[in-house]
Amino acid sequence: MLSHILIGAALSIVIATAAWRARSLSAGGAVAAAVIGTLAIAAGWAWGALLVAYFVVSSALSHAGREIKTQRTSAIVSKAGPRDGIQVLANGGVFAVAALAAAVDPAARWLALGAGALAASAADTWATELGTRYGATPRSILTGRVVPVGTSGGISAIGSVGAIVGALFVAACALALGWAPRLVLVAAVGGVVGALVDSLLGASVQGGRWCDTCARGTERLRHDCGTLTRHVRGVAWLDNDVVNFLSGLAGGLLAAWLAG
Ligand SMILES: [Zn+2]
Repeated sequence: MLSHILIGAALSIVIATAAWRARSLSAGGAVAAAVIGTLAIAAGWAWGALLVAYFVVSSALSHAGREIKTQRTSAIVSKAGPRDGIQVLANGGVFAVAALAAAVDPAARWLALGAGALAASAADTWATELGTRYGATPRSILTGRVVPVGTSGGISAIGSVGAIVGALFVAACALALGWAPRLVLVAAVGGVVGALVDSLLGASVQGGRWCDTCARGTERLRHDCGTLTRHVRGVAWLDNDVVNFLSGLAGGLLAAWLAG
């Protein structure tokens, strides 16, 4: 068991360091990713492989469209560029806790919790990447009104397809790794529902800010024009990271509940 964990830690550090060098992760993000990777491999090789598949494809997607996406959304989104530690924990925290639990008690519900949360995170990432690059003008999931590209809670047809494909990708990987089809199915359902929860929270309670200089909505504390923004809607501390964490938790819990 100990040698297994040590090998897991070594592999995780190698991958996290490579991601940091490729500017997919900040230094803090790399540390958080190495810890999550170690916990995943402690739970089993399949957990580690699932995490790596998710991580490599999500990072590649984020990287591929960084310039266009930054151009279209940098005035709105609070964080662009390498994922920091908080972002990594928001996306992988539930998966890490499920892996830890599975390492101690290998019950099916932990597999469902972990895979459901990861599928939700993949769904949100794919929806965001594809939606902001190729999607038509997004509309608020709650009001149906047109919103600027990058606005939380804004959805487009291509983004929605991206969410489903992202969840199915994690499910397909889990299936290929030998997880039971029933668990794979509930993880996919959890992933799609998690992405839906993400958009609903983004359009309702997520904190929104306003730049008086540009007269534009944003999620940034300081706008890219340099002006300090003011809080105008939602709950101020409920930022994109908290919403991501909650939607992953929702997707994971739904999958665990469906797995019985
Ligand atoms: Zn401004």
